[in-house]
Amino acid sequence: MYMLRGHHLFCLLGYRGMGYSQEYVENMTYLHHTLRNNPKTRIQLVKGPDQLCEKYPNSGEYHCQNDNIYERDAAVLEKLGLTIGQTLTWSDIESLIQKSIVPSDIQVVCESCSWRSYGVCEEGVQEILDGKRLREVK
Ligand code: SF4
Repeated sequence: MYMLRGHHLFCLLGYRGMGYSQEYVENMTYLHHTLRNNPKTRIQLVKGPDQLCEKYPNSGEYHCQNDNIYERDAAVLEKLGLTIGQTLTWSDIESLIQKSIVPSDIQVVCESCSWRSYGVCEEGVQEILDGKRLREVK
């Protein structure tokens, strides 16, 4: 079972192998592969830093405890109708995304994220709405 904070549920949709460091990318790619290949993998929703934040490099500004990141987590969970502490599978999460999210939600919920301008997260939401799995990342 993986422990994930709210906004990382969206980040996984747009993940294309980019990240803050090699260690961060390896960890996220492993998780992404696991969820793609086994959507029945269980996830527990946590408050604050999670198993992806654990690999955030020491060199950069540590933003994982910033208020605006907590607010982003809360906004994502609210949109999906989920609460901290809940456990569900990745495929449950994909179903909720199909029911409750549209690509333009990324522009609102993730307004302050530096990765947003790549457009991959909106693309990732659209792919789930189209019934596709997470995109393969090599
Ligand atoms: S815009 Fe940023 S916070 Fe939002 S899903 Fe993409 S990478 Fe994650």
